[in-house]
Amino acid sequence: MFTITTTAHQAEDLSFLLHKHPARVQVFELKFGKVHIFYPEVNETRCTAAMLLEVDPIALARRHRGGGGGTLGTYVNDRPYVASSFLSVAISQVFGTALAGHCKDLPDRVDEAMPFEVNIAVLPCRGGETVLRRLFEPLGYQVEATPYALDNQFPQWGASRYFTVNLRITCSLQLLLSHLYVLVPVLDDEKHYYVGEDEVRKLLRRGERWLPSHPERDLITERYLKYQRSLVREALARLQEDAVAPDATAERYAAAEEALEAPVRLNALRLEAVLEALKQCSARRVLDLGCGEGKLLVMLMKDAYFERLVGMDVSAQALENAAKRLRLDSHPIRRERVSLLHGALTYRDDRLYGYDAATLVEVIEHLDAPRLRALERVVFEYARPGCVIVTTPNREYNARFESLPAGNFRHPDHRFEWGRSEFRTWAEYVATQFGYAVRFVPIGEADEALGPPTQMAVFEQLHD
Ligand code: SAH
Repeated sequence: MFTITTTAHQAEDLSFLLHKHPARVQVFELKFGKVHIFYPEVNETRCTAAMLLEVDPIALARRHRGGGGGTLGTYVNDRPYVASSFLSVAISQVFGTALAGHCKDLPDRVDEAMPFEVNIAVLPCRGGETVLRRLFEPLGYQVEATPYALDNQFPQWGASRYFTVNLRITCSLQLLLSHLYVLVPVLDDEKHYYVGEDEVRKLLRRGERWLPSHPERDLITERYLKYQRSLVREALARLQEDAVAPDATAERYAAAEEALEAPVRLNALRLEAVLEALKQCSARRVLDLGCGEGKLLVMLMKDAYFERLVGMDVSAQALENAAKRLRLDSHPIRRERVSLLHGALTYRDDRLYGYDAATLVEVIEHLDAPRLRALERVVFEYARPGCVIVTTPNREYNARFESLPAGNFRHPDHRFEWGRSEFRTWAEYVATQFGYAVRFVPIGEADEALGPPTQMAVFEQLHD
């Protein structure tokens, strides 16, 4: 059994979004048993929908006939009592319209981010609470898990893999259902049906909006596709395409941008300015977000002032190149001081807590507006380092690059390039929003009218 509660205004609209009448108990017959839908509470401020799965072990055993033979395990197992891939089937069959993001009666509320609380009575988690958190927290969930002992009579036997799980998030109902649809069977790590090509399609469709940049993308894909190598390879290749421009192209673009800026030594000046700003903020433990191939990390590593350095990027290829540049393989001791994380800056990530500073060097302009909004929260609200340093091109200066056609960006993957006032407006908004002070530092030789080639903002957390 699981419940979905919302406390959004006019909370009872949840019943319209789920297309299930709030005053009735409804029963749906599926192949593996029955699904009951009912609402334990419905009012303007709070509405809860419950889904109770009544898995029929006898029907299941019959469907398996001719398979593994009739061992006791086919009749006596945990399936009737836990959330598993049956729950995904039930979501897609009983809440199919909501999962597809349609609602005729309330089209305006379909995409609304609402506060939700999900309670899953018994969720088997292979890998325990750590994996549970690693799957849900990067998506923005607050996770509470109550573990169960294998047997209360014999505490020495340790913990079971079963948890009662409470999840809280603010997002659209469709997104919430798509998370549960994919992640519940991934945690269970068992599927009651054959996994074929069709499952790749389902995974990509359900995970479309969040899986490409989920830090546990590989684990999710492997488990979802039951470790079938060719399917996993195919799915990961498609997810990688969605996450970033293909790496070879990305490298070519980066090289072109560097060539453009080389005459003004921008790259070196930028890194020196960042290093200087880090020291002014007394930052010894530094996160380099969107570290790319690790140019800044290499420079900081050579300076004993910095005690701990962590680079994070969404591109696995860029991280591999960074590891080579940093020679992490041949210098094992270095790994205690410098490490690299694969992850997306648009998802909340516990691994980013506890640093003095975070740098975003030529990164923000690679994110479109909704992703930039997400990054702002991930960095300034959740990771919340004492200091954040952001650099980005000054678009006004582009007129000085003779080889750059007017109106073009310096890098084809840039989603925007800002002039000085646009950057200032954004940075001041972020500072106010999240409780930081901000100052601006020009980088490179400034043109009198157009300003410097690169602009930098240094945010320092205000203490209350
Ligand atoms: N800071 C580096 C790289 C800048 S290029 C340097 O100055 O050389 C931008 C980098 O941001 C790329 O490596 C890209 O993979 C990374 N990036 C883009 N979007 C990201 C996201 N959502 N999460 C994490 N990294 C991202």
